[in-house]
Amino acid sequence: MKRAAIYVRISRDHAGAGLGVERQEADCRKLAAERGWEVAAVLSDNDISAYSGKRRPGYEQLIGLIQTGDVGAVISWSHDRLHRRPTELESYIDVCDKAGIDTYTVKAGHFDLSTPSGRAVARTLAAWAAYEVETSTGRVLAAKKQAAESGKWRGGQRPFGYDADGMTVREEEAALVREAAQRFVLGDSWRTVALDWNTRKIVTANGMAWNALKVRNLTIRLRNIGIVDHNGTDRYPAQWPAIIDQELWDQLQTAIAVSRNVHTQRGPFRKHLLKGFAYCGECGNRLNVYGTKRAGGRYEPAYGCRKNDDEKGQVGCGSVKRMLAAVDDLVIDSLFYRLDTEDMHQVLSDASSDNEALSTHLAELHAATQRLEEIYGLFGAGEIDFAEYKAMKAAAHEEKERASRKVNQSSGKGTIANVPVGKTLREAWDGSDLQWKRQLLSVFIDRVEIMKVPKGSPRTFYKGWQFNPDLIQIRWRA
Ligand SMILES: [Zn+2]
Repeated sequence: MKRAAIYVRISRDHAGAGLGVERQEADCRKLAAERGWEVAAVLSDNDISAYSGKRRPGYEQLIGLIQTGDVGAVISWSHDRLHRRPTELESYIDVCDKAGIDTYTVKAGHFDLSTPSGRAVARTLAAWAAYEVETSTGRVLAAKKQAAESGKWRGGQRPFGYDADGMTVREEEAALVREAAQRFVLGDSWRTVALDWNTRKIVTANGMAWNALKVRNLTIRLRNIGIVDHNGTDRYPAQWPAIIDQELWDQLQTAIAVSRNVHTQRGPFRKHLLKGFAYCGECGNRLNVYGTKRAGGRYEPAYGCRKNDDEKGQVGCGSVKRMLAAVDDLVIDSLFYRLDTEDMHQVLSDASSDNEALSTHLAELHAATQRLEEIYGLFGAGEIDFAEYKAMKAAAHEEKERASRKVNQSSGKGTIANVPVGKTLREAWDGSDLQWKRQLLSVFIDRVEIMKVPKGSPRTFYKGWQFNPDLIQIRWRA
């Protein structure tokens, strides 16, 4: 039985573009079965930059198998899967000639490379394939680069915010791009904006619904400030007008850095309003959130003091547990009660200076993060011992936490100062996501302490919960 090697390649050059390797392989296997050959090897390359001359390890392996005599035939989906350039074909002909190999393609059948006419056909096909690559890929690429350098639009799908020519601003859509940027700066998530736009029946340039990623990509694209982005590496001034001004763009970059900071904190940190704010009033331990079984078998979340930690051993007293919904409700009510006082006006009048403070705090955070990385590096290189490493790491970590809190605080002040006109803070609160709420909380609340319920105390109710508000202590910031 003749042993055959199947060669498949992903590329986007020309004929057969987008034809998956699975499909190529299935067709090749069918051909092997028809001829009664055993498939000894399947080799593949992912070669989407077809004409770059990049190495093809799969192809090189194939040549090896031919040279050692391990296979007697080669099957490929089409001739241009095997060869990208006439020079490659020439060395292939050499190798096959010596080893007496048959080459079959699904598309064009048998190439008898041992005869002059067979070689002529193969060479002609290779020459035309190369011609196609040069004209389509090469020329299109060169033209795109040239267009980029001259600041022209390089065509494609109509960019949202502009007409199909890519140059004329559509004011209505441009206003939406600015809206998304402003809202993100004020603490809305991309998802919140997307959901809102979908409710308002706003659609993308090709008539689709929005999602978080689409809104994000739309808002952060360099086109918005009149810059051409060529392959993510080269930037040129564009000929079309910007729709976001430099000030908003800078604020947007800051907000993105802030949200990265918020999002890199551990997952559970962001799921609950008071996670990180709630402490045990008995032992000072930071409270966790648990599911607690209520009457009727339902599970509801509760803040609780954890006694033991898997890594650190005993961490808390374990004597405090309280229903999350009741605690959150009380804290929110207290917050709004307090905001009605002059604190609110103080914060609003301070807010203008906050952008500066925010960038200072971001720089501090960045430095602290780098310091941590340096320490990892020192330990990894064996320049400090484990005890030193632990001490340095703890100090740097604390510094980072402190900077991170300051970032959240100053961005929170920005958040509150920018409550939309005509909306009360309460309305803004109800329409905002958790990140926004936590930022706002961090401006006013240092911590919330939950006390143990004393033994034998009478049952107390609060808004339908069995809950005693007096056992919750809110520590306000000065
Ligand atoms: Zn405790």
